[in-house]
Amino acid sequence: MRAPTAPMKPSTGHCIFCDLMRGAAEVSICHEDATAIAFMDIQPVNPGHVLVVPREHYETLQDIPSAVGAHLYQVAVRLIPIIQKASGAQDMNIVVNSGQAAGQNVMHYHIHLIPRRDGDGFDVPLPFPGSSMPNRQQLDAMAARIGSMLRDPLASDGRKT
Ligand code: AMP
Ligand code: ZN
Repeated sequence: MRAPTAPMKPSTGHCIFCDLMRGAAEVSICHEDATAIAFMDIQPVNPGHVLVVPREHYETLQDIPSAVGAHLYQVAVRLIPIIQKASGAQDMNIVVNSGQAAGQNVMHYHIHLIPRRDGDGFDVPLPFPGSSMPNRQQLDAMAARIGSMLRDPLASDGRKT
């Protein structure tokens, strides 16, 4: 296994995960099937940090067909209790960074399964200390907007089926 290199920049065209899929670089695989592959993150937050990845190149959540997205989550759900056992860490963050503004560095969609330990120093700080609380009217308005878009089959949510 290679040593971690400098912090990554968002990829531009060339895809390291597609390279891994082609066998062009070392990878430690813990699950594979016709649609998905799961392998150890090269720079894990903690031992047992796994990435669940579609075999085909889709960049973000918007690009993932529903069936592929659902399959990836099924694989994740199967892996989680096993990772907990194998890593000895019960607590877990399931993280998807979808898009550059969300912190995605490798532009090939993936789900992080991150076993967590007390004091490991990793953090997903929610509620976000930099935000202010909207009033109930604003929350209700957004909930109603999302709900009506969900019920209206003609409203596009950007997801491919
Ligand atoms: P993200 O910021 O959500 O795109 O996360 C990308 C993840 O991919 C990081 O946690 C990296 O450590 C991991 N990563 C990058 N290159 C490799 C590689 N060759 N093998 C395994 N994991 C990798
Ligand atoms: Zn790719």
